[in-house]
Amino acid sequence: SLPLAQADPEIAAAIEHERLRQHEGLEMIASENFVSEAVLEAAGSVFTNKYAEGYPGRRYYGGCEFTDIVENLARDRAKQIFGAEHANVQPHSGSQANAAAYIAVLQAGDTILGLDLAHGGHLTHGHKLSFSGKLYRTTFYGVRRDTEMIDYDELESIAQREKPKVIIGGGSAYPRFWDFARMRQIADSVGAVYIFDMAHIAGLVAGGAHPSPVPHAHITTTTTHKTLRGPRAGLILCGKDLAAAVDKAVFPGQQGGPLVHIVAAKAVAFGEVLRPEFKTYAAQVVANAKVLAEALQGAGYRIISAGTDNHLMLVDVFANGMLGSEAELALGKAGITVNKNAIPFDTNPPLKPSGIRIGTPALTTRGMKEAEMRQIAKWITSALEHRDDDAVLDRIRGEVAELANQFPLYAWRKHPDPV
Ligand code: PLP
Repeated sequence: SLPLAQADPEIAAAIEHERLRQHEGLEMIASENFVSEAVLEAAGSVFTNKYAEGYPGRRYYGGCEFTDIVENLARDRAKQIFGAEHANVQPHSGSQANAAAYIAVLQAGDTILGLDLAHGGHLTHGHKLSFSGKLYRTTFYGVRRDTEMIDYDELESIAQREKPKVIIGGGSAYPRFWDFARMRQIADSVGAVYIFDMAHIAGLVAGGAHPSPVPHAHITTTTTHKTLRGPRAGLILCGKDLAAAVDKAVFPGQQGGPLVHIVAAKAVAFGEVLRPEFKTYAAQVVANAKVLAEALQGAGYRIISAGTDNHLMLVDVFANGMLGSEAELALGKAGITVNKNAIPFDTNPPLKPSGIRIGTPALTTRGMKEAEMRQIAKWITSALEHRDDDAVLDRIRGEVAELANQFPLYAWRKHPDPV
């Protein structure tokens, strides 16, 4: 058969241009990262051809002897990384990992208590447009107005009033440590299951740069593609007591055949996480975020909760006279990719919110450190200040590309292949 460039020139060209885009810009979307060539290779492997419903040693299809090797390695490595008794490596995504965790412990109509999306939570934690808000009764906790950190006293009183069956922690835009022990104690006091969705921080937890929810939560869910630096997928960890319920909830409860090529890529990524260099990586992600947040604060920007403990920060750009959507656009023109984001108690609408979210995991993978973060903070502030001046944004884009070139991604070629 033909190589992709000949078999399907349109798709090949789009892939080449995406490779170039990833190389030339500064990727600062907090949920993104760059996998290794080894992870890419496993994700593009012949395991995409394999059906393997069931679990190692208990499959509904023949020919699973090599699939079992892959899934067992992925499970064992995940358990070792996080000190968990049980791991299910089959969820196709973070959302499906959460769906399976709910199926394992809830009936339709039961109550979930999660972090409000507007305060940094995730859609799957009960938002009305998500399956989680349609299948379950939902209630929300939030952050305090003064500190912009989780209000655990409020969480406790809501839990006592609403008697949820599940309390879920974690989120997509929360820059601070969580009090896992307090959440577990609140869950225990009302007989709720404590689920923690560590999607954003999993790599920091794995690398010892963030406290771990795993010893506190009944079930821990995560994506594998953010700070954990694996392929796009999900993972569930739990104790032996919930292992059978979780496995049944993933398959047949929520999915059919696992994506074996992606399970293989997860195993490779988990192997990388177990190496000592990953600890250095996780520590550098946090160090970079702190330096960037301080530099932006120094330039007169308000950082939500006055700083960060992890890989991301929320910047209140509305306080400096612009919408998050305008800031996202200007930074995009300057070659810096971020996303607009609501800030707690936002008075602006979701598509034109007051903030932007910035993260350091992807640039840290490219090898960037504190000095680059200080330079990037200067570009960010200059681009925001001159957001209506395309000449300035163009000049910054050129400087950004020069820096990016010093930190190459993958086997680097300047021009997309002619197609
Ligand atoms: N949970 C959290 C906290 C997330 O931030 C995300 C993704 O943004 C998800 C779950 C969902 O992951 P996926 O996009 O793989 O469904």
